[in-house]
Amino acid sequence: MSTPLVVQKYGGSSVGSIERIRNVAKRVARTARAGNRVVVVVSAMAGETNRLLGLIADLAPDAAHRESDVILASGEQVSCALMAIALHAEGLAARSFLGHQIRIETDDAHGRARIRSIDADNICRALDKGCVAVVAGFQGCDEHGNITTLGRGGSDTSAVAIAAATAADVCEIYTDVDGVYTTDPRIVPHARKLERISQEEMLELASLGAKVLQIRSVEFAKRYGVNLHVRSSFNENTLVSGIALDRDQAKITLASVPDRPGLAEKIFGPIAEHGIIVDMIIQNAGEDGHTDMTFTLPRAELARALPLMRTLGDEIGAAAVRDEASIVKVSVVGLGMRSHAGVAVRIFQILGSEGINIQMIATSEIKVSLVIDEKYAELAVRALHKELVEKESVE
Ligand code: ASP
Ligand code: MG
Repeated sequence: MSTPLVVQKYGGSSVGSIERIRNVAKRVARTARAGNRVVVVVSAMAGETNRLLGLIADLAPDAAHRESDVILASGEQVSCALMAIALHAEGLAARSFLGHQIRIETDDAHGRARIRSIDADNICRALDKGCVAVVAGFQGCDEHGNITTLGRGGSDTSAVAIAAATAADVCEIYTDVDGVYTTDPRIVPHARKLERISQEEMLELASLGAKVLQIRSVEFAKRYGVNLHVRSSFNENTLVSGIALDRDQAKITLASVPDRPGLAEKIFGPIAEHGIIVDMIIQNAGEDGHTDMTFTLPRAELARALPLMRTLGDEIGAAAVRDEASIVKVSVVGLGMRSHAGVAVRIFQILGSEGINIQMIATSEIKVSLVIDEKYAELAVRALHKELVEKESVE
């Protein structure tokens, strides 16, 4: 079980003063000390980007966008180093990273650049050394090394993209809004906080101008399956922060394969060579020297993976190669789960009492993922949400 990786993004108001930066550093320290690897992504201090835009406008309203981006990126450069220093004061090892230092490569559309790729190696190396990686949001560089920015609110997208590139367990966006509302509660004070929101709905809301997240970040999260959570900088973590449903799943089983060393490599080598990303793997060794190997993969890859596995199955003497495309993965995610024993059992109970058969299980400290038949997808999500999110305050 690898150490959970958490990406936390703090917006301008959360890092709006030295006092607030200190508070954020304390929260990050708690997350790190609870046994997580942590990447922190920061916006510029509140008002800073507007101040810089003002300077540019005063000098030359038609300033070259390449130069504007050099100026605008400075806001995040400052907050990210301040955050690293504040973390040092909390006794943590921490390192700041600017966009070009981790090669957040974008296109060259200055002021509204899109991320093309991220080289996560530098971040991962820092994390492996026990460092908190603090990344400047909103900025990247084009293929020639020119500094670019991602558009207003762009550090949300930075955070989600980094979460995708590092395969983080969760991406938490901290904001002074304590969740997703029917509308912006800073504008309409009686806006209703949504109990639950799908990524599709979130995308819809964001595109309709809800100011919670930059829309590109939601698109990105959807495309790369990033577990995205919006949290208040001012509230504490809860037990379960969300239930996620991934319909893009299929599974392949190699049944009753003669069990010998090197088998797993034989099976997964060709899969990896073809760039197919495997998610869950279950091996079940029987007493007769044979083993079953089951794994999940994106549904669209089934057609490519199956012939490979059929050929291989013949070669290694599998009794059968079976495939199944009508499965989904339901995940219960929450940092609070770590400190509560028995959450997994509770989850199994809930599904059991709905008559839902669990086909595969994978757990980490902050997540339980289950593969079930796709016809139970909604039922499972509703039941888990009702019991674990809506009733959670009773625990
Ligand atoms: N500092 C940038 C802005 O104010 C990016 C961000 O906060 O996400 O738009
Ligand atoms: Mg923002």
